[in-house]
Amino acid sequence: MSRFWSAKVHELTPYVPGEQPKVSNLIKLNTNENPYGPSPKVLEALKAEAGDTLRLYPDPNADNLKQALATYYKVTTNQVFVGNGSDEVLAHTFQGLLKQDKPLMFPDITYSFYPVYCGLYDIEYVNQPLTDSFEIDLNQYPSENGGIIFPNPNAPTGRVLPLSEIRTLLERNSDSVVVVDEAYIDFGGESAIALVNDYPNLLVIQTLSKSRSLAGLRVGFAVGNPELIDGLERVKNSFNSYPLDRFAISGAVAAIEDHVYFEQTCKAIMDSRNTLTEQLQALQFEVLPSATNFVFATHAEWEASELAAKLRERSIIVRHFKQERIQNYIRISIGTNDECQALVAALREILT
Ligand SMILES: *Cc1c(COP(=O)(O)O)cnc(C)c1O
Repeated sequence: MSRFWSAKVHELTPYVPGEQPKVSNLIKLNTNENPYGPSPKVLEALKAEAGDTLRLYPDPNADNLKQALATYYKVTTNQVFVGNGSDEVLAHTFQGLLKQDKPLMFPDITYSFYPVYCGLYDIEYVNQPLTDSFEIDLNQYPSENGGIIFPNPNAPTGRVLPLSEIRTLLERNSDSVVVVDEAYIDFGGESAIALVNDYPNLLVIQTLSKSRSLAGLRVGFAVGNPELIDGLERVKNSFNSYPLDRFAISGAVAAIEDHVYFEQTCKAIMDSRNTLTEQLQALQFEVLPSATNFVFATHAEWEASELAAKLRERSIIVRHFKQERIQNYIRISIGTNDECQALVAALREILT
């Protein structure tokens, strides 16, 4: 608290990101980073960018990146918005599209940044509970709303909805914006980008942080009707003209263009996830079905907080949320095969 802060700052409840330890001898399975490095083509592009041109501002519209995304997703460049991580794209979306007279709707258990943006931008919201099996039930969402946002697959549960259920929601909900946050879609889901030409109120947000292994570069994007994109551009150009620097633009273009590396690494992660799920089940964990690069698991005889602490003693960090309904679950990001095997060995030791 400080008398120099505005009243608004006093009332904020900031988001708390997962730990980024300063020591390097830990197995880090707590923030859903990709265990494989970025594509070698990204590293080449970044090296090529390190030169005299850094004295110049980057392209404020990041046209090369919008073009690469539009080509890859078979849309037009005016259907694409880019930002400094999808967190920034989300922030502009909350402020520019989801702040309405009626309340915004999102799940009770979901990405914990959503209520933080609502606090920052004074957006009223109503939580819709997940089912007992931790699924989003879009049929529950009332037709009176100022907007709807949910991750698909959801975080931190990992469960995915089929596109048909999203289409059903869009068929009955045409008067407010529906945002699908697809941070994990490349690990086994079907993208709602396929629906943007049919529904002008649909905005799909993705990130290069997870499936493209570029959490450190900070690039996210949205795809939707040009009218929605235009709204986001107005917010962005009232906030920061250059949210993506020269490295971010070049590296992101190279990542989007390297289809082969992307597909290989996503497949390796999905294979490891399936193996790890079976191994956890053999250790009497209950594991929710995951379409992401993490698993959400609970053990009948052990408290999740205790398991997380004991793993930490063995230099393995996983994520534990103190929130109601999920306080007995741990979220484990999928690492390399070696990291997953080290986790299984440590759990076997703890449990027996
Ligand atoms: C990781 C994550 C993001 C944020 O991604 P950045 O692009 O790194 O900001 C957004 N939404 C969900 C659900 C996430 O898990």
